[in-house]
Amino acid sequence: MLKTVIFCEHRFMQILHICKQGHQQSATQTAEWKIKSFAARDQPAVNKLRKNKMAIPHITPHSPKQNHLLAALPDADFRRLLPELEAVQMKIGQPLYETGSQMRHVYFPANSIVSLLYVTRNGAATEIAVIGNEGMVGVALFMGGETTQNPTMVKSSGYAYRLKESVIKEEFKHCESLQYILLRYTHALLAQITQTAACNRHHSIDQQFCRCLLSSLDRLPSNEVSMTQEFIANTLGVRRESVTEAAKKLQSAGLIHYSRGHIIVTDRKGLESEVCECYSVVKKEYDRMRSDRIAA
Ligand SMILES: [Zn+2]
Repeated sequence: MLKTVIFCEHRFMQILHICKQGHQQSATQTAEWKIKSFAARDQPAVNKLRKNKMAIPHITPHSPKQNHLLAALPDADFRRLLPELEAVQMKIGQPLYETGSQMRHVYFPANSIVSLLYVTRNGAATEIAVIGNEGMVGVALFMGGETTQNPTMVKSSGYAYRLKESVIKEEFKHCESLQYILLRYTHALLAQITQTAACNRHHSIDQQFCRCLLSSLDRLPSNEVSMTQEFIANTLGVRRESVTEAAKKLQSAGLIHYSRGHIIVTDRKGLESEVCECYSVVKKEYDRMRSDRIAA
């Protein structure tokens, strides 16, 4: 039996401590997920738990097959790629590519989330897509581009598996299944980018905030999102005060519980009723991508 404890990530994911207030209602399942999550991405934190003789149940390491594109590969193709896949830790705020930089790897997130951004000359950033375990970061590499105009940044910590530029180019040329999977994914990613452009122009910050939360939840193993309001404001390209206001409204409505960079979605259905159409348009496209693969 687990102790009912919750580990709070109040300063991104660096600090681990037992939260003595609040969260007590959160049950064993949540505690178990948090421990698993730390186990996957923060070995020193797990060692600290062991030293203090605290329970660490069923540690689940990250795995390449957590990524849906890698998991969709025929077994022979997956096994050929496996020695080339390098596990890398992804820390929130970490850049993967800078604007105009040479791309050396593609990344398949296992349990992390990456933001694809557009940054203006005066440094203002706007998120144009999110990429998690449904996809891959670096499509420009197999589409013929060597550099990217869109910087990418880790939005939620965890792990990803990366492949060298030379490997992905060679595999894309010769592996029919990988080629199909990546082209189909690129189509879905373009749909997301298109929809995000429309959302940024036509929908309210409250709706965009809901979309941000739901699209993160879809790529995470629980109902908890670790992001500060400032971080969310930066990725949405809006003022932090606007995000604070949006978070307050959702908390008052009983849809989320927000505390210092830690958001628990307490009523997902309610959140879905508040979000704009963009969320379901993009979700349907990714669902269609997955069902196409099954049918293929
Ligand atoms: Zn929208």
